[in-house]
Amino acid sequence: MSTIVLPRIMEVGGGAITRLPQVLQSIRSKKPLIVTDKVMVQLGYLDKLQSILQDAGIESDVYTDTVPEPTAASIQAGIKKMKSDRFDAVIALGGGSAIDSAKAIAVMGKFGGTVNEYRFPRQFNEPGLPIIAIPTTAGTGSECTRVTIITDEKTDEKLLCIGAGFMPIAAIIDYELTISVPARTTADTGIDAMTHAIEAYVSQKANPYSDSQAIAAMKLIGPNLRKVYHDGNNKVAREAMILGSTLAGIAFSNASVALVHGMSRPIGAFFHVPHGLSNAMLLPAVTRFSLDAAKERYAECARALTFAKPTDSDNVACEKLLTTLVDLNEALSVPTPEQFGIDKTRFFAVVETMAKQAESSGSPSNNPRVPTIAEMVTIYKQLWN
Ligand code: NAD
Repeated sequence: MSTIVLPRIMEVGGGAITRLPQVLQSIRSKKPLIVTDKVMVQLGYLDKLQSILQDAGIESDVYTDTVPEPTAASIQAGIKKMKSDRFDAVIALGGGSAIDSAKAIAVMGKFGGTVNEYRFPRQFNEPGLPIIAIPTTAGTGSECTRVTIITDEKTDEKLLCIGAGFMPIAAIIDYELTISVPARTTADTGIDAMTHAIEAYVSQKANPYSDSQAIAAMKLIGPNLRKVYHDGNNKVAREAMILGSTLAGIAFSNASVALVHGMSRPIGAFFHVPHGLSNAMLLPAVTRFSLDAAKERYAECARALTFAKPTDSDNVACEKLLTTLVDLNEALSVPTPEQFGIDKTRFFAVVETMAKQAESSGSPSNNPRVPTIAEMVTIYKQLWN
């Protein structure tokens, strides 16, 4: 048996953003706070959103100071804004960073406390202010997950907060908002979505529901990731990618992520590597480490991603998965830690701490092959070979 948690409403398709007033009316919101970032302001997306609301006679206010890979301090400023008036909903507009910020603001603005108090293994199920999530990247799937990730800047640790309280009440999934994502971010976020689907499928917490979502996500993402990287204006591929990232989010939120994500968060927190990029750096090495423990499942991933033929044996499909993941990183110009500019001495000085942080996030224990701290240290070091 599995408990599945999903948003109550999903508006999906090109132009879906125009449905925002109806969504607000259906949850009886009259005064929402829009939580977003400066890029959304520059791109004109915030203006567009506010004019849709104005035309429907809905008053709104904005908090535009969310930051990429949000920190506890950036959340506090948002909470202050939320408490400054009688807002009755939070609209999250942006990538995973803006959506995760909005989730933390909606919950902590109502229940108080510090991010540290909400971290895993606590499960926080009480609803804060209702959240309407409008993703502008095809990556995290945060619009459909019961997860938020906030960095504690004092300890350089990305804190994973989980529970139904962090699930948006509604998601508006409009691929047209992703056309403007630059190629580098398109690749990073796309690999993040692909990793969610793979990890949900091989996770020890996988279940028939999450499996069906993960496979559907991989079928959408596998054939379209390179296309959106090379041609951001390919609308068919952009639509497939955001549908895939939402489904991958649903899959992992109702199963779990595993070793890639567990080891990726500390790289992000210590060296400020965008989340999808640190996943990409780790995915081939972690897949190689884990493969033998779930060969049939990894082979299914290779087939769903169209990296292997339906008729390929499990062994052949797994081999193709590994080689394609390496090729994909090259095709998408994923830098090595060294090329990204990480200092090797500092990296090696914190590998042990990163491995311990990974373990305490709980994600590695969902991996088909559960690593020891020493094995995680070895994988981190392999990234430099
Ligand atoms: P992001 O939100 O940090 O965005 C990356 C950059 O792209 C930002 O500068 C942003 O302003 C810009 N951007 C966003 N949309 C754009 C658009 N349409 N056009 C042009 N630029 C645009 O990146 P992300 O990968 O979406 O989110 C990463 C964050 O999400 C990390 O903090 C990660 O830990 C978290 N995350 C959360 C979950 C979850 O379930 N809550 C899952 C995975 C990752």
